[in-house]
Amino acid sequence: MSGITQLRIGPYIYRVEYVKDLRAADDTRLAGNIEYEQNVISVDRDNVEAVQLVTLFHEMIHGILANAGIVHHKERLIDAIATGMVQAFIDNPDLAEEFIRPECDHYHGDDRIEPCTEGDVLKKLGNIGMEK
Ligand SMILES: [Zn+2]
Repeated sequence: MSGITQLRIGPYIYRVEYVKDLRAADDTRLAGNIEYEQNVISVDRDNVEAVQLVTLFHEMIHGILANAGIVHHKERLIDAIATGMVQAFIDNPDLAEEFIRPECDHYHGDDRIEPCTEGDVLKKLGNIGMEK
């Protein structure tokens, strides 16, 4: 699952690296790790793809909470949210597509599509709150 190499969390752009045999300082195995000061997320590349994806969400949720100044949080709660979010995307394959994509891809009529810009996403997300 090495396709995602960067992840924006709030104002920070994290580099995502896939590491063989990821371990903590005390040598215990880790599925993932986030370094807030260096903006690096590490994911153990030996785990199966689904575990790596949940791990990426898990570390992202740590980052979201840390950005809000919530530095002490329960791992079980993070796991519940991360697995729940991934399962929601699996159970509802149109969710991400419906949420963002339709209004941000720029079709040129020749199968060439420019990716979303941050402005596109902000516009789409801003419009969601305005729809009544
Ligand atoms: Zn964690």
